[in-house]
Amino acid sequence: MFDNAKLVHSQNLGDLVICDFCNGDGKNSVGGVMIGSYAICGDCSEKNNYYDSEYKNADEIDIVFSQDKTFQENVLEYRKQQTGSSDGIMSFYTWDDCDILKKEKLKE
Ligand SMILES: [Zn+2]
Repeated sequence: MFDNAKLVHSQNLGDLVICDFCNGDGKNSVGGVMIGSYAICGDCSEKNNYYDSEYKNADEIDIVFSQDKTFQENVLEYRKQQTGSSDGIMSFYTWDDCDILKKEKLKE
């Protein structure tokens, strides 16, 4: 995170899980993968061949979730491992002395 970032808004999403590709809630999808901070549901993973070890960008995939659980269950478990809570927290930040804003002010 940036040094001068200021938290504007933080929202607890609870156990809501949303696929970063299709925005599906993952209750009807099995498995899924993590690519960086993106959570991708099982349906999208299949469509994009993420389960295929021959997939050309396979090394981009950080985690392949269990096929025995729904995408939602997998992501909640992952959150708990990462943050100690299965609650999803969405945070919005702003920058106090953003250079672009300063430059705009100087023009006025
Ligand atoms: Zn999806």
